[in-house]
Amino acid sequence: MDGGHVGIVGVGHVGMASAAALFHASMVSRLTLVDLDERRAEGEAMDLMHGQALVGACDVRAGGVDQLAGAAVVVLCAGVSQKPGETRIDLLARNAEVFRSVADGLDEHAPEAVVLIATNPVDIMSRIFADLSARPRERVIGTGTTLDSARLRALLGRRYRVDPQSVHGYVLGEHGDTEMVPWSLVSIGGTTIRDRSVLGVSWDEVAMRALAEEVRTAAYEIVARKGWTNWAIGSVIRELVAAVLRDERTVAPVSVPFTGEYGITGPWLSLPARIGRGGIDGVIAPPLEPDEEAALRASATALDEVHAALDA
Ligand code: NAD
Repeated sequence: MDGGHVGIVGVGHVGMASAAALFHASMVSRLTLVDLDERRAEGEAMDLMHGQALVGACDVRAGGVDQLAGAAVVVLCAGVSQKPGETRIDLLARNAEVFRSVADGLDEHAPEAVVLIATNPVDIMSRIFADLSARPRERVIGTGTTLDSARLRALLGRRYRVDPQSVHGYVLGEHGDTEMVPWSLVSIGGTTIRDRSVLGVSWDEVAMRALAEEVRTAAYEIVARKGWTNWAIGSVIRELVAAVLRDERTVAPVSVPFTGEYGITGPWLSLPARIGRGGIDGVIAPPLEPDEEAALRASATALDEVHAALDA
């Protein structure tokens, strides 16, 4: 048992996949489940807690944000889903309202916590939360393209018949439609896959475009089949929480505010960042080729426009 108190705000599909991943990894000593639907949170806490005898002691309780004192990490995955006929901006406005209803309480009761945001659209929601909260910006992290990057590595692992953990590379930019794969950075065994054949598999432009598209549209495909996505984001959240709790200094592509990287200032989108006890303590702007940089800039512009439309 590593120890540490983690709060999860919004214990729907994503919140409970994250809670279960943390519980089964024996990574936390206390889990507090917070939801507008208090009965549901209570039921989830009871159900998970009964596994203690098998997995190891972890104090799982339902409660309000006032029960989050001392939490090292608060995972924010509360949200509302799209209503028929509702635009993305309408949805965004309603999710901003959800964040407004919890931000002050989190600042009051868990001012030291690193807040890990999963609610979509995650880049804009992270920016909104950072603006609402008094905590330092480095203590607000959006899960960003960590999930998309995991999807990319999983698909490449299958194609090259290697463990996806041996595939290095990122999806950067928006977690969503304008995300981009900087292929110049994707490598296996220290070899950029675009430059030469690796393990007998050569670069195939058409197949790789299709693979990047499969990553970009993965959530739509999963939602069309099961109605939501939750298991892989649960794994992502477990890894990012571990990075904070254990002060791992993990580098992961998470949503951070751009402060001049590639000439972009203002929007939140994903770059590889170092994550430890205090949240983000360093951002890397890897060298990109001109077309990759242009794609990243287009992603930033798209996000800025959505953010501005929200204010309008
Ligand atoms: P869900 O509807 O199953 O759960 C949302 C929960 O939030 C519900 O239990 C609801 O009661 C709760 N809630 C709403 N308002 C609240 C408030 N003010 N305080 C506390 N709880 C509140 O939804 P889900 O499938 O778990 O998805 C949650 C969010 O995560 C969505 O925005 C979804 O798009 C996003 N998501 C993000 C990623 C990612 O990669 N970042 C991946 C999957 C899903």
